[in-house]
Amino acid sequence: MDKKHLFSKLPSVDEMLKQERIIYLLKEYPRVLILDSIRETIDKYRKEIVSLSEDNIDKFSIDKESMIDQVNKLVKLKSSLSLRKVINATGVVIHTNLGRSLIADKIKDKVWQIASRYSNLEYDLELGQRGSRYSHLENIIKTITGAEDVLVVNNNAAAVLLVLSTLCKDKEAIVSRGELVEVGGSFRIPKVMEQSGAKLIEVGSTNKTYIKDYEEAINENTAALLKVHTSNYRILGFTHNVDIKELSELGRKYNIPVVEDLGSGLFIDLSKYGFTYEPTVIDSLKGGADIVTFSGDKILGGPQAGIIVGKKEYIQKMKKNQLTRALRVDKFTIAALEATFMMYLDEDMAINNIPTLKMLTYSLQELQVKANNLYEKINSKNLNIDINIESGYSQVGGGSMPLEKIPTKLVTIVPRNISVVELEKRLRLSDNHIIGRIFEDKYILDVRTIFEDEFDIVADTIQSVLE
Ligand SMILES: *Cc1c(COP(=O)(O)O)cnc(C)c1O
Repeated sequence: MDKKHLFSKLPSVDEMLKQERIIYLLKEYPRVLILDSIRETIDKYRKEIVSLSEDNIDKFSIDKESMIDQVNKLVKLKSSLSLRKVINATGVVIHTNLGRSLIADKIKDKVWQIASRYSNLEYDLELGQRGSRYSHLENIIKTITGAEDVLVVNNNAAAVLLVLSTLCKDKEAIVSRGELVEVGGSFRIPKVMEQSGAKLIEVGSTNKTYIKDYEEAINENTAALLKVHTSNYRILGFTHNVDIKELSELGRKYNIPVVEDLGSGLFIDLSKYGFTYEPTVIDSLKGGADIVTFSGDKILGGPQAGIIVGKKEYIQKMKKNQLTRALRVDKFTIAALEATFMMYLDEDMAINNIPTLKMLTYSLQELQVKANNLYEKINSKNLNIDINIESGYSQVGGGSMPLEKIPTKLVTIVPRNISVVELEKRLRLSDNHIIGRIFEDKYILDVRTIFEDEFDIVADTIQSVLE
């Protein structure tokens, strides 16, 4: 036999299309995807034949059934979405790579209804005429924060951009050098300020900034005093910061607006759940900030958004800024954000229903119960593994509270016939995409971020990847 003979045995695309299993596939999947997959499969065989050495020509077989198997696999792969659900077993609650905050199940019907049906998005039902998409969020956010006015944009980076562009374009904003940080997703305050047309005046040193440093930098071009919450790192030890109260007094003395970028939108003081105290949005407003910005999908636990609250006179100007049109939020976001904020009317309701808050505030006993439960489900499969429950730490994530070590319970697994690295890879690539961690040569499942209704899937998937 020679290669020519092998090529002549390769089925044509038309021949493949006539195979019974392919005809069956055509009923379920788009023809273009099937054609692509057939061509790719034939091409793969052709390339393999080309690269065959003389000795291997006789051993090479062209089996139509296995070609059809490959077409099947390819079609399924091509028709699956790239963005898909994963199981977060990392214990990082606000995991930016895995979608940050999760929308509460409780509000899914409300959000889906707005997304899939017509709505009064920009329609005033009372007056029967054009309305504003932002009106839907105004009452609830004003109620929760006590602010005079609100504006919601695409994300917090956009919020900071809009605030600075509106208040400080071609003017100066004073900020402490110690707060010129890079935060989640390479958001650099100096770069955003540059884009806004504001000139940045850095004051103080990395570890110490005093109120007099700000005061000395004030001149007739100063348009804002900016405070950035350094949520993803801490300068410890020999430090001095100016708090929002002090800065606001200075702002009032010179009639300059004080802006605070808080990063995370905290509304519940989490210190009663064992966390280090962090300023809430209300603390910042009460402290005298004229404008406060924060993310929708960090600790707030809502959809991606940037929320601006504060004095009406400034926010009215922002609403008229042309940038606002470019940064506007979708109806999906408005629906999810309004329903999420509604839950904050009752703290227990928020803690129990917003996944980010619920996961952050589990008691150790609750985590122990979850860990026992997951352990049992995996252990009862009698797999070739060493499995244990151990203590460890979870993280808040999303660039928030980086030093916070939250005690948690882990289910740890050491497989006996494959490596830990191989187990991690197989679980990640499995249909259910379990994303865990490796620590001290063990595969670790942190039960904090795994939903109870995912436990069976986790156990079944571990079983199937080990078989
Ligand atoms: C996360 C963060 C941002 C960026 O927020 P996005 O919603 O991701 O755009 C800006 N400032 C601070 C202080 C942050 O922590």
